[in-house]
Amino acid sequence: RSTILSGIQPTGTFHLGNYFGAIKSWHDLNNLVKKSEGNSSLYFFVADLHSLTVPQDYQMLQKQRLEAYASIIACGIDPQLSTIYYQSCIPEITSIQWVLSCFSSMGYLNRMTQWKSKANLKDNANVSDENALGKVKLGLFGYPVLMASDVLTFRATHVPVGQDQSQHLELTREVAQSFNKSVGSKYFNDPHTLLTPTKKILSLKNPLKKMSKSDKEPLSKIFITDSANEITKKFNKATTDSIEGKLTFDLENRPGVSNLISILAAVKNKSIEQIVIDVEDFSKKELKEAVAEAVINELEEPAKKYKELISNPEYLQKLSDLGTEKARIVANRTLKDVMRLVGMSSY
Ligand code: ATP
Ligand code: MG
Repeated sequence: RSTILSGIQPTGTFHLGNYFGAIKSWHDLNNLVKKSEGNSSLYFFVADLHSLTVPQDYQMLQKQRLEAYASIIACGIDPQLSTIYYQSCIPEITSIQWVLSCFSSMGYLNRMTQWKSKANLKDNANVSDENALGKVKLGLFGYPVLMASDVLTFRATHVPVGQDQSQHLELTREVAQSFNKSVGSKYFNDPHTLLTPTKKILSLKNPLKKMSKSDKEPLSKIFITDSANEITKKFNKATTDSIEGKLTFDLENRPGVSNLISILAAVKNKSIEQIVIDVEDFSKKELKEAVAEAVINELEEPAKKYKELISNPEYLQKLSDLGTEKARIVANRTLKDVMRLVGMSSY
C-alpha cells in the first residue's frame, strides 16, 4: 500500500513550471490511484506555514492560500480521491515537528542549501558565521524539519518533488532513522523521492533563469489562469535567438528555443527528440504559434475550472473542511504513536 504526498507554497499564481513540474504529475498519480482501486492514499497540501519562512504580506497570503487551493483542484486533482488540505489546519504536524526537531542534527541542517539561497547567502555560508546568523530566522533554518514532519505525519511512502527538494527528503529519511533508532522501533518507513519528469521550465523573457512565482516580470511566465490572448501574446514576445536554419534543442546556446521545445514536449507528452523531428523545419514564429496553441488547449480546462471554483469560496471552504477532517484523523493517530514512543502515553 502506498501513500503519496506533496505540497506547494501559496506564494503567487501558479505558472506553467508549477503545472508541469508539480501538479500535472500529481494529476497523473491521481489517475494511477484511480486504477489501483483504493490501494493508495494521496495527500496534497497548500504549504502555507512554509511561506512564513520569508517575509509576506499577510493579507495577500490569506488570498493566495485560497487561490492555491482552488488551483490544485482546477489542475485536475480530484478532492474525492485525494485529501487536500491547508498545512496550517493540521496542528498535529507542528507538534510532531517539535519532537522531530529533537532528532535533527544542526550540522545536517547547516549543509542544506535552500536557507542560504532564500536568505541571499553564499552556498558556503555557515550558521557559525555571525553574518549568516543575524540574517537567518530559526523557521527558515528549520524549514526542512517541518517538511520532514509534513511527510512523516502521514507516513508517506512516495513524495513527488522537483530536484530542488530532493536534499530535504534525504534529511527526512535521516530524521526518521534517527527517531527510530532512539525509540527502538521501526515506526517510520523511509519515504521515496519521486522526481517529476519535467525538469525545469525556463522564464520566457530570460531563459537563463527558471520560470518562478517570485519573478516580477509578468511576460516571463504563463499563468494557468491566462486567457488565450494573453498566452498568444506572451509566447509571441518570448526571447529566442538569431541563429538561422533548422531549429535545434541546445539548452546552452539556444535556451529560449529549447525551452519552447520542452514546453511542447511536456504538453504533447512526447520526448524532446520526437518534438525536434516534428518542428525542426518551422520558423521561430511558427514554433511560437504551435506552442501557444498547444498550451491554450492544455490550460483551457484548468482556467475554466479555476474561474468557477474561485467564485465559489463557500464550496472551497467545504472541501477544505473535509480535507482537514480526513487529514487530522491520520495525523492524530501518528501524533499519539509518536508521543507514546517518546514516553508520553497519556497524551
Ligand atoms: P517561488 O518563486 O516562490 O519559489 P516557485 O515558482 O519556485 O515559487 P514553488 O512553490 O517553490 O514554486 O514550487 C512548487 C513546485 O513547483 C516544486 O515541486 C517545484 O519543483 C516546481 N517548480 C517550480 N518552478 C518550476 C519550473 N520553472 N519548472 C519546473 N518545476 C517547477
Ligand atoms: Mg521555488
